[in-house]
Amino acid sequence: ETNQNIIGRFAPSPTGPLHLGSLVAALGSYLFAKHSDGRWLLRIEDLDLPRVVPGIADDMQDTLEILGFQWDGEVLFQSRRTEVYQAALEELINRGVAYSCGCTRSEIAKISSAEGTEDVIYPGFCRDGLPPGKVERAYRVKVYDEVVSFADGIMGRYSQVLSASCGDFVIQRADGPFAYHLAVVVDDAESGVNQVVRGADLLSSTPRQIYLQRLLGYPTPSYAHLPLVTAPGGAKLSKRDNAVSLAAGLDLRKDGGGLLLAALRFLGQQPPPSLTGASCYEILDWAITRFDPSLIPHVSAPLIP
Ligand code: GLU
Repeated sequence: ETNQNIIGRFAPSPTGPLHLGSLVAALGSYLFAKHSDGRWLLRIEDLDLPRVVPGIADDMQDTLEILGFQWDGEVLFQSRRTEVYQAALEELINRGVAYSCGCTRSEIAKISSAEGTEDVIYPGFCRDGLPPGKVERAYRVKVYDEVVSFADGIMGRYSQVLSASCGDFVIQRADGPFAYHLAVVVDDAESGVNQVVRGADLLSSTPRQIYLQRLLGYPTPSYAHLPLVTAPGGAKLSKRDNAVSLAAGLDLRKDGGGLLLAALRFLGQQPPPSLTGASCYEILDWAITRFDPSLIPHVSAPLIP
C-alpha cells in the first residue's frame, strides 16, 4: 500500500489566520500523502496581494509546525513566481486559446442579469478580437461545449460543461495578478503534485483546472475534496470566528492535540480515547498509520473542538 511517488500539498491563502476549515484541509491532505509514504508540500498562495495580511504566512507556518505537521522541501510563495505564470499565459496565447478581453464587470453583469442567470457566464464578446474602442482588461481562455469530468476520491464523479457553467474564464486580471486557476495548475505541475486534497468549496473549480492542465500539456492529479466545516447551525463558517492559530491567541502547545483529535473525528477517523492528552506528534503518527479515507463523510458539518 506504500507509494513513494505520491506528492500532495497544502496551499493556504494568507488572507487570514488558519481556521478550522483550513486545519481540516491541512490534516486531510497530510494524511492522504503520508499514509501513502508520499511527500507533502506547503505552498503559500499569496498571489492576490491586496488581500494578503502581512505576517499571516509566517503565523501559518509556525502554527502548522506546533501542530506537528512536517512539510517536505522549501515553501513555495506564489508572489515570487510571476514569470512562470507569464510564460504559461504566453503559451496559451500562442496556442490561440487565450485572448484579451475588454469587457468591464458591469457590462458582463448586465448581460447575465438580463438573462436571469445567477452565475456570470461570459458571452464571449471579445473572443474574435478586441472590439474597436475597447481597452484590454483581462485575458480569458476559450472553452468549448465538451464535458470535463473526473472521479473525486471522496465526492465521486463530478462533471461540468464549462461553456454552460462559466464560459470563457479569466486567467489574468486587468489589475495585474494571474488568476488562481492558472497559478494553481502551473504550480502543481511544476512541483510534481499528483494528489490534490482540499475543501469541497473548490470542487466546482476543478473542471476549469483540469481543462487548463490539458491545454498546457500537464498531467491531471488525483482529486479528493473534503467536506466543509460549517457553523453549528449548518450556516457558512465565518473564518474570523474560527481561527486556530497562534496569531489568534490560541495556546496550541496546550490545546493543539485536542484540535487535531477534533479534526480527525470530523474526517470520520476514530482516534482511541488513549490519545486524549497525547502530543500532536503522537496523534499524527497514529493518524498516518490508521488513516482510512473511506470513513470521510461526504456532507458538510460543524466541527466541535
Ligand atoms: N489557496 C486556496 C484556499 O486557501 C486553496 C487552493 C487549493 O488547494 O487548490 O482556498
